[in-house]
Amino acid sequence: MLNVYSARHYDSDKEMYKEFEAETGIHVRFRESGAPELLETMKAEGEASPADVVISSDAGTLYRFEAAGLLQPFESETLKAAIPEHFRQEDGYWYGFARRARVIAYDPQRVSPQDVSEYADLADPRFKGEVCMRSSTNIYNLSLMGELIGRLGHDAAQAWASGVVANFARPPQGGDTTQIEAIAAGECSVALTNHYYYVRMANGSPSEQAAAAKVALSFPEQESWGTHVNVTGAGIAAHAPNRSNAEKFLEWLATPLGQSWLTKETREYPIIAGAELPEGLEALPDFRQSDFPLDDLGTYQSEAQEIYDRAGWN
Ligand code: FE
Repeated sequence: MLNVYSARHYDSDKEMYKEFEAETGIHVRFRESGAPELLETMKAEGEASPADVVISSDAGTLYRFEAAGLLQPFESETLKAAIPEHFRQEDGYWYGFARRARVIAYDPQRVSPQDVSEYADLADPRFKGEVCMRSSTNIYNLSLMGELIGRLGHDAAQAWASGVVANFARPPQGGDTTQIEAIAAGECSVALTNHYYYVRMANGSPSEQAAAAKVALSFPEQESWGTHVNVTGAGIAAHAPNRSNAEKFLEWLATPLGQSWLTKETREYPIIAGAELPEGLEALPDFRQSDFPLDDLGTYQSEAQEIYDRAGWN
């Protein structure tokens, strides 16, 4: 028996659990909900929680589970060997199993690629009235800000946020897909999105494909530290009743089969070297990715929100 608490919602995950069950004979039960709901559920369940494994996107969210005492460390030589150091928590509270790049989406009719080659470009006055963004409370934006604080320092990060806000075409709204659609509709010409939302549109319904065809992606910071990359990760629940099965599952997620099921529908990048790419990613360029330690993002979270709040980025 293995109980998985997952903040993901994909049909392919159900297939993934079946594959794991077929290979190991370990029966998987899962509970899917939003990360905040799962976190509150686990807090309420306390030591009686049936959760063995927690899966969620974004290191910033995994940090929240860790900080709430809901995870326990797992020292795995297998996972340490398979997963680069900056994509896992240093004491083994969580490991990254799939990668996602936070990229700049732009209108290639109105913007040239060299004008969106850095995150700093989003704050350039040339884009006044041209920037669409989702809310700053979103963990993807908080984690990007965490890296900017870590790399540039507080003051430069604040100046960036204020510069981006000064360029807003409209108040923050919607999710990443909303920003891509807004560019396609001509409401703005630049925005931030995780790469997979674009890939899903480009491989989606005819209307989604038509929208994606009007939008291009830039992987920023190729001449500097590399594009901000975050993870979908997992850790072992603090009171896991089936700890050894949880260990087996986490190590299985880093096998080629586990990797392909985990990324198949989400269109994330696998984390282990040599794993098969999900369909649609072959169309994206090879890119330099940041090696910023994702474990550090959590510690910048409240500062990141303060910076956004001060900038007026709702
Ligand atoms: Fe997402």
